[in-house]
Order: sequence, then C-alpha cells, then structure tokens
Amino acid sequence: MIPAQFDYARANTLDEALTLLAQNEDAKILAGGHSLIPAMKFRLTQPPLLVDIGRIKDLAYIREEDGQIRIGAATTHYQIESSDLLKSICPLLPDCASHIGDVQVRNKGTIGGSVAHADPAGDWPAAIIALNAELKVISNNGARTINANDFFVDLLTTALEPGEILTEIRINRTNGRTGQAYAKMHHPASGFAVVGVAASLSLNGDGNCERASIGITGVSSKAYRASAVESALSGTKLDDEAISNASAHAADGVDANGDLFASADYRRHLASVYTQRAINAAMKSIPPA
Ligand SMILES: Cc1cc2nc3c(=O)[nH]c(=O)nc-3n(C[C@H](O)[C@H](O)[C@H](O)COP(=O)(O)OP(=O)(O)OC[C@H]3O[C@@H](n4cnc5c(N)ncnc54)[C@H](O)[C@@H]3O)c2cc1C
Repeated sequence: MIPAQFDYARANTLDEALTLLAQNEDAKILAGGHSLIPAMKFRLTQPPLLVDIGRIKDLAYIREEDGQIRIGAATTHYQIESSDLLKSICPLLPDCASHIGDVQVRNKGTIGGSVAHADPAGDWPAAIIALNAELKVISNNGARTINANDFFVDLLTTALEPGEILTEIRINRTNGRTGQAYAKMHHPASGFAVVGVAASLSLNGDGNCERASIGITGVSSKAYRASAVESALSGTKLDDEAISNASAHAADGVDANGDLFASADYRRHLASVYTQRAINAAMKSIPPA
C-alpha cells in the first residue's frame, strides 16, 4: 500500500519540532517510523505533515542523574538492549528490548515512539509500568510529567495532548536485593507480545518479598499493573506455592482481548503462566545476601 500524500520536515532541535507541531495541529511526529509508516501505508492515519525528530541528538541518551535513570525518547531499542549501564542497574530494560522485533526493528525503533504509539501488544509499556516510570513531555505551553500508570489510556491512546512531545523516561534507581526480568510469548507471525510480563522484585532483610511490581501487556486494550499479584506476593517467602497462587491473579478484573490466534480465556491463562515465569526469572537475578 502507498501512503496518502504528506509533507516532511526534519527538526534539528526540540524547539524546531515544537514550533512545527504548533503550526500544524494534524502533524505527526516521526521517530523510528516502524509503527507510524506501516499505519500510514494502511491509510489508518493520513497526517498532512511528518515532523522528523529522529536526528535530534539531545533526545537520544541513557544516563543516571539525581538517583534516576533517564532515557531520551529517541533512544533506540538496540541502544537500550546494549547499554552496560542499564544491564548493571536496571536489567529489565535491556531484557525487554531484546524481545522486540528483529535487529532491524531494534536499530531503528525508539522507546519514545513505542510508548507514544501504545500498541496493546507492544513490549515497553509493560516494563515502564512495572518500573513505575515517569514520562516527561514538553509542548509550547511548558513541561509536565505523567506516571506510566496514567499514561496508557486505551488502545493506541495515551495521555499525550496535541502538540506534546515525549522527551524522557525517568525511572527511580532501586538499591538492595532486587531482581528483574521480562517473559514474553511471541506471536509466531508478527513477533509482538501475545502476552508479555515485566517483573521487578525486592527482598527485605529476612529474604521475604518487600515489593513486587508487575506490568502486563498483550492481554487487553492497554498494558496494566497487576496489583492483585503484587499484593499477594508482598511479605511472602516467594516460594513456588506463593508465586503460583499470586500469579493466578494476573488477569483479575481485566477485560481480555480475544482474536483468531488466542481467545480471551487463553490470554488470561497465558497471563498467569508468564507472570509465574517472569517472577521466577526475576528471582534468579537477585544478588545473594
Ligand atoms: C516488523 C516489525 C516488528 C515489530 N515487533 C515489535 C515487537 O515485537 N514488540 C514491540 O513492542 N514493537 C514491535 N514493533 C514496533 C516497533 O517497536 C516500533 O519501533 C515502535 O512501536 C515505534 O517506535 P518508532 O520509533 O518506530 O515510532 P514511530 O513509528 O516513528 O511513531 C509511532 C507513534 O508515536 C508517535 N511518536 C513517536 N515519537 C514520539 C515522541 N517522542 N513523542 C510523542 N509522540 C511520538 C508518532 O507520531 C506515532 O504516532 C515492530 C515493528 C515492526 C515493523
């Protein structure tokens, strides 16, 4: 398919991008183009102008600042997958990145584009919800931050307002005995998540679960936090029985999607199975006392 006609403008700075967006309210931001261009080819969207932010150097970085991990929105999946800093202080992110598409997709697609696209089968939303990330967005009216839990509103719909650019993902650094992992059932044709579960677990001095954060994607119209699993794990020894009992609540209160490949019931079942897998994998990565 061929997209409808559109204009293209390359922004060299964030200010330039904001001005272009303010001048044309139907313009769309182009980052890696790996979700937007396919949607344009299917004519699901027909923006009159694309504002390319892919060459704005200030939007692609991974750094630690004020006890937080800060990732620029235009950072590619591959840059995250291969970051030594993230491997050492937030391994969930490189783990999650390694599950996305193939090498070409990971080289071009960005975390900001993926999060802003809010695909219900996208991987990043589960991880950033589990990490309780804050998303920094900027428009000509100023800057604000949105908690990951409030960012995903519905299928392909986020809390971003017209004219706003997502610029940074901020994650508080966890200390102590913490383990993280991502477990995913890949759709055999598309590679997207039939179900993807991100887990981050912290142990207290007694070796019991102090805090569990679980983000799940693929099951419903938007990624969500599995609060019932988190509360069921809290304070337990994280033995097989506790993990199995808690994981059974992975889709509690969730309106699961069904399609030709996976019915709603099967997705709910997978949510429990992959929650169990993500928790077990996260446990294995917890450093010894
Ligand atoms: C073959 C293939 C396989 C894939 N497999 C997977 C997979 O397994 N898992 C997965 O999660 N994804 C997968 N993807 C999607 C891929 O990860 C995309 O890169 C990602 O979803 C979008 O990022 P992008 O940088 O390409 O954004 P774009 O396509 O450029 O933009 C996507 C949307 O976000 C908006 N946008 C982009 N950046 C910003 C910003 N900074 N602020 C505000 N709005 C913004 C755009 O206007 C657009 O609406 C796959 C894609 C392909 C083509």
